[in-house]
Amino acid sequence: TKAHIDAMEKHKDLNAFITETPELALEQAQASDAKIKSGDAGAMEGLPIAMKDLFCTEGVRTTAASRILDNFIPPYESTVSGNLKKAGAVMLGKTNLDEFAMGSANITSNFGAVKNPWGENVGKDLVPGGSSGGSAAAVAGGLALAATGTDTGGSIRQPASFSGIVGLKPTYGRCSRWGIVAFASSLDQAGPMTKTVRDAAIMLQSMAGYDVHDSTSARVDLPNFEAALSGDIKGLKIGIPKEYKVDGMPQEILELWKKGEEMLKDAGGEVVDVSLPHTKYALATYYIVAPAEASSNLARYDGVRYGHRAEGELKSLDDLYMKTRAQGFGEEVQRRIMIGTYVLSAGYYDAYYAKAQKIRTLIAQDFEKAYEQCDVILTPTCPSEAFGIGENEDDPVKMYLNDVFTVPTSLAGLPGISVPTGLSASGLPLGLQLIGRPFDEETVLRTADVLE
Ligand code: GLN
Repeated sequence: TKAHIDAMEKHKDLNAFITETPELALEQAQASDAKIKSGDAGAMEGLPIAMKDLFCTEGVRTTAASRILDNFIPPYESTVSGNLKKAGAVMLGKTNLDEFAMGSANITSNFGAVKNPWGENVGKDLVPGGSSGGSAAAVAGGLALAATGTDTGGSIRQPASFSGIVGLKPTYGRCSRWGIVAFASSLDQAGPMTKTVRDAAIMLQSMAGYDVHDSTSARVDLPNFEAALSGDIKGLKIGIPKEYKVDGMPQEILELWKKGEEMLKDAGGEVVDVSLPHTKYALATYYIVAPAEASSNLARYDGVRYGHRAEGELKSLDDLYMKTRAQGFGEEVQRRIMIGTYVLSAGYYDAYYAKAQKIRTLIAQDFEKAYEQCDVILTPTCPSEAFGIGENEDDPVKMYLNDVFTVPTSLAGLPGISVPTGLSASGLPLGLQLIGRPFDEETVLRTADVLE
C-alpha cells in the first residue's frame, strides 16, 4: 500500500484520481496485516486497489466526475465496493472518469482529462480511453494493483485496450448495481480492471453475487473463476463474426485479430465463422437506449435533495431546477439528456425508442444463434489504438464509433473481456475481445488466459 501511495504521489500528472484516501488506505492495510497474522485473511486481504468514482463509498466523496455531485458524501456503501472491502481489499482512492460514465476518452470529466501512461513512450498526451479512464491509467501506471470499472457500452473494455491491461465486463446481473451511480440501468455492469487475467478472475470472485438490493442481480451459482484457468481449450469452438470486419479498419488490427485466432488454434481451439447480422444497427440502437435511460435516471438531480444547487436570485422552483442543471451538467451529459428526452417523447417514442428495443432483441438473438455453433466469440476490442487528447473531441459521432465492437455485447447483456494482445506500429497496446454465453465468465476467462 505504501509503495502504491508513493506511485500515486509521483504520477499526479496522470490525473487518475479525483479523491485520494491514503490515510484510510494505511489504516485498512494495518487492519489487514493483523488479519493475515492471525490467519483470518480474506480473498483480497491487504491488496491496494482503486475505486471508480461512480461507486458510492460511505463517508468518502463520490462525484461521478460531475459538478452536480462535487460535494456529495454518500451515507452508504455500494454492494460491490462493500464486497471488496469485506474481502480485505484496501481502497487507495476514487478514480477519474467521464462525467456520469458518458464517454470514450475520459475527457468529459469535471475534474479534467486523464493521461494514458503509455503517452510517455511516444512523447504525446494520449487518452486512456473511457469512461473508466482513471482506473485504467492507475493500473497501467502502477498506481494501483487493480481497479474497479463500470461498463455500459464498453467503458471497461475500451480503456483496458487503450491502456494495455485486462478489463472484464461480466454478464448483466452478475454484480449488483446497488450504490453505483446510474447511467443506463439495463446496461450498467461493474467489473474488474487488472494487470492479468488471473487477477480479473480473483477480483470478480469478490465483487460478484446476488444482492437483494438490486432486483436485476441474478440468483445464479458463483463458480470458482480462478479454477477455470486450466490453460486447456482443447475442442473449444471460437467464433469469428464476419460483420466485425468493418470498412476502414486499420490493417494492424486485422493482423492482431488473425494472431489471436492462431494463438487459440495452437492451444487446441477450433475456429469457426459465425454471423451476427444485426451488428450494423448496434451503435445506433445503443445511442438511443442509453441516452433514454440516462435522461430518466438523471432527472433526480434537481438541486433540492443533494448535490450542487444554483444560488443567487431564483424566481421559482422551475428556475432552481433549470439553473442547477445548466450549471451542474457538462456538455456531453446535457446532449444525452436531450437525445434521451427526445426519443422518449410522445411523438417519437415508437419511431425511436420502441424500434431500438426491438432491434436490441434481434441483436441478442444473433448471439444466441451464433452460440449454437461456437462457445466463445473473438473480435478486436476497438477499431483503433489510443488517440491524442484533443482529437475527436469536436465530433461526438466520431467519438461514438469507438464503441462499435463493444456495444453489441452490452445490448445482449453478455460477458466480454479485453486482453492486451499486441502492440501497434507506434508501440501502443491493442486488445482483443472475447465474448461469452450468459453467465459463462469461466469460458471467457479460460480463453483469455490462453490469449494473454
Ligand atoms: N462510450 C460509451 C458511451 O459514451 C460507453 C460508456 C460506458 O460504457 N459507460 O456511452
